[in-house]
Amino acid sequence: MERKNVWNSYDENQLEALETLAKNYRAFLDAGKTERECVKEAVRLAEAAGYRNLENVIAAGEVVKAGDKVYAVNMKKTLALFSVGKESLDKGMRILGAHIDSPRLDLKQNPLFEDTDLALLDTHYYGGIKKYQWLTVPLALHGVVAKKDGTVVELAIGEKEEDPVLCISDLLIHLAGKQMEKKASQVVEGDDLNVLVGSRPLKGKEDEELKDAVAACVMDVLRRQYGMEEEDFLSAEIEVVPAGKARDCGLDRSMVLAYGQDDRVCAYTSLAALLDTAPQEKTCCCLLVDKEEIGSVGATGMESAFFENTVAELMNCMGCYSELSLRRALKNSRMLSSDVSAAFDPGFASFFEKKNSAYFGRGLVLNKYTGSRGKSGSNDANAEYIARLRRIFDDHGVAFQTAELGKVDVGGGGTIAYISALYGMDVIDSGVALLSMHAPMEIASKADIYEAKKGYEAFLQEA
Ligand code: MN
Ligand code: MN
Repeated sequence: MERKNVWNSYDENQLEALETLAKNYRAFLDAGKTERECVKEAVRLAEAAGYRNLENVIAAGEVVKAGDKVYAVNMKKTLALFSVGKESLDKGMRILGAHIDSPRLDLKQNPLFEDTDLALLDTHYYGGIKKYQWLTVPLALHGVVAKKDGTVVELAIGEKEEDPVLCISDLLIHLAGKQMEKKASQVVEGDDLNVLVGSRPLKGKEDEELKDAVAACVMDVLRRQYGMEEEDFLSAEIEVVPAGKARDCGLDRSMVLAYGQDDRVCAYTSLAALLDTAPQEKTCCCLLVDKEEIGSVGATGMESAFFENTVAELMNCMGCYSELSLRRALKNSRMLSSDVSAAFDPGFASFFEKKNSAYFGRGLVLNKYTGSRGKSGSNDANAEYIARLRRIFDDHGVAFQTAELGKVDVGGGGTIAYISALYGMDVIDSGVALLSMHAPMEIASKADIYEAKKGYEAFLQEA
């Protein structure tokens, strides 16, 4: 039952469409390195495609009807978009879900300190990372500083050609004998992930010796550029991410190398599929959520009531809200919960089971179940639902493959599928396979990105 590599099935037109999609995808990655930036960019793209903010629709007392396109934003970090269909909403929706948060280092609330004439920012990592991978790579700061006066300053340092970048230093190999004998998880400890941000002391007035003059110099820069005081770190959300743009990868340019492809590769293709799909019989939806990497918790994670509340608001605008209709709308929906899969890596073959692994170039991945230690914590998609998807993908010429995340009992991971499944809707984990998942730079196949978008479009039309 081996699945075919899809590259040689493409004609010139398809190859051109594949490259255009990859280019737009790279631009999306460059514009969105945090969940807030992703929401902002997705809203920009959606508004250009005729989507309107549901809040404004509600405020204006407008009626929402078939053919309308609306979106709702939750705390600037979660986004739900709806293309309203002709059929009544309680018959169910077709939902494409993905997450837009990615593993990274967050600045602590009191981050700035000075040690031996170096200024550093202390971090607390977010999501699962191999800590040593974050040393000696160019880093950027992205985020917001919320001030007491209510203003919120957006901050991005390290992306423009003329910007400085930041870095976490590592011990030189010459002295690293003991370090190299440590377990990889202890080569650098979480609290030692300190970002080097300065080495030059601020000059005091008339030879006055300043205390912590190097840190003061860093604050002086932030004060001048962003009007921020050190206390403002208390109410800031600043993420440390790899600096630089997404790039074509491979001498044949068949792949994309970039930060944050988990799960923006599924988020972007889901969004693009919705924006490129004309209104259908059923209402189509794209849901982009935050906090997946730390368990989908909190007001902006999948576990929050945001999605359910938004569907209720939408139904109310359509004049068809009742508690029972809302329950039915959710229960009768079908969903592709998209998140990245592990691509088979020949360099680490022993961690995979070959015939149940995902491979670059073999298309959209379906994971019947995820979880670990006996599928624990997994949504387990029904066979009947998978059969329906197989038919849709085959009818639309979408290359797809099925996979598990590595060998049994080697590890595991979670997604958002099990949370939507609580409504009783049909949902399956699907997505794009990555090499080096959760590393500062992750790799995806352009063919898989292309097939994912094709698959999502076919799903919106027929599921
Ligand atoms: Mn993910
Ligand atoms: Mn992840």
